[in-house]
Amino acid sequence: CVNVGCVPKKLLVIASQFREAFQNAAGFGWTVGETHIDWAELIDNKDQEIKRLNAIYAGILERAGVDHFEGHATIIDEHTVQVDDQLFSTEYILIATGGWPVLPDIPGIEYAETSNEALSFSELDRRIVIVGGGYIGCEFAGIFNGLGVETTQIVRNEQILMGFDHDIQQTLAEEMLAKGIDLRRSTNVVRIDKIDDELQIELTDGTVLLADRIMFAIGREPLTAGLGLENVGVELNEQGAIVVDDYSQTSVPNIYAVGDVTDRVNLTPVALAEGMALAGTLFKGTPTAPDYSNIPTAIFSQPNVATVGLSEEAARAEYRDVDIYRAKFRPMIHTLSGNEERTMMKIIVARDSQKVVGLHVVGLDAPEIVQGMAVAIKAGATKADFDATVGIHP
Ligand code: NDP
Repeated sequence: CVNVGCVPKKLLVIASQFREAFQNAAGFGWTVGETHIDWAELIDNKDQEIKRLNAIYAGILERAGVDHFEGHATIIDEHTVQVDDQLFSTEYILIATGGWPVLPDIPGIEYAETSNEALSFSELDRRIVIVGGGYIGCEFAGIFNGLGVETTQIVRNEQILMGFDHDIQQTLAEEMLAKGIDLRRSTNVVRIDKIDDELQIELTDGTVLLADRIMFAIGREPLTAGLGLENVGVELNEQGAIVVDDYSQTSVPNIYAVGDVTDRVNLTPVALAEGMALAGTLFKGTPTAPDYSNIPTAIFSQPNVATVGLSEEAARAEYRDVDIYRAKFRPMIHTLSGNEERTMMKIIVARDSQKVVGLHVVGLDAPEIVQGMAVAIKAGATKADFDATVGIHP
């Protein structure tokens, strides 16, 4: 998250939003001169910030009295971990090694890159192809498009963000297209060739795209290789994730695992919650199972998306009757900016209980809005509670 995930990603999202901000400013009377992005400076500043955060984390560990070793760790037996040539004896072992991007097995895949590299590309190229319509694909398509790179996004299904509410999928796809992302749906990459300095990317429909880079964001897999799990018989599932019970215990009683390596809900704050719950279980005498209900999440696409609770599809499957309240409107900034971007807000109410069971926003400040709304939904707010709350104006 801190090194090659959420944090550097969000810094690049912020960087890429300035172009539109400069354009929006004109409608408010500003004259913005010629603009230029210095990618090397952006990456350098981002790297400095990541270094600063690493130092803060190291300091927190040190002040807490943690002995910290850097090296590849292998579990030798249930109570022994080896790091390089040192052996550590322990009562408990916690595995939190996360995940790693997946690449497909197609000709020319050696020319492909992932989000790991994209956060530090040596230069900002003219054209990029991004494969995948999930969190990472949508976020990086927004980053590169915003920075002025010709961006093509390849999605194998009819929709981006599969599993999310259909109004999120549709609204975001429309807005991304309007911002200039060449979104191609229902297609996939079959081969990549490098001719001189240029990539030729062939799609299932026969189209050949020319680009300077291709980045795959087609999911991540649990990172378990070389950990010595086979030495102690820690069970993995078919996807290669560590199998754990409700208390994050693996098939070996004194070995625990949290985060993406367990492939439960793969989000940083969920991994943190799993870690906090485990601390309670093991060391505070309060056995705690993490609560996976109503986890809010955001996609830092452009515009942003944020959501908590059930999609309309999932709500219809779970409750007999649901009421849908949906609004699409022009946010105030765009009354003067000339930008056609719309905001979409939607709540889904279980008719019998009148509880709000899903809330979805695509548009400006969606993550900040939904973070607050998530408290209400977690507390079981009804549609009447929403209606009884005075709105902030304007
Ligand atoms: P996702 O699972 O979110 O999306 C994967 C995308 O790739 C989907 O569009 C999927 O299509 C497509 N895909 C899968 N396999 C193939 C294939 N063989 N060929 C072509 N397309 C394929 O993965 P991401 O890589 O985007 O993100 C990884 C994880 O990181 C996620 O679990 C996410 O939770 C986390 N993350 C969270 C962020 C946040 O909280 N803001 C930000 C970034 C990452 P389809 O769905 O149509 O099958």
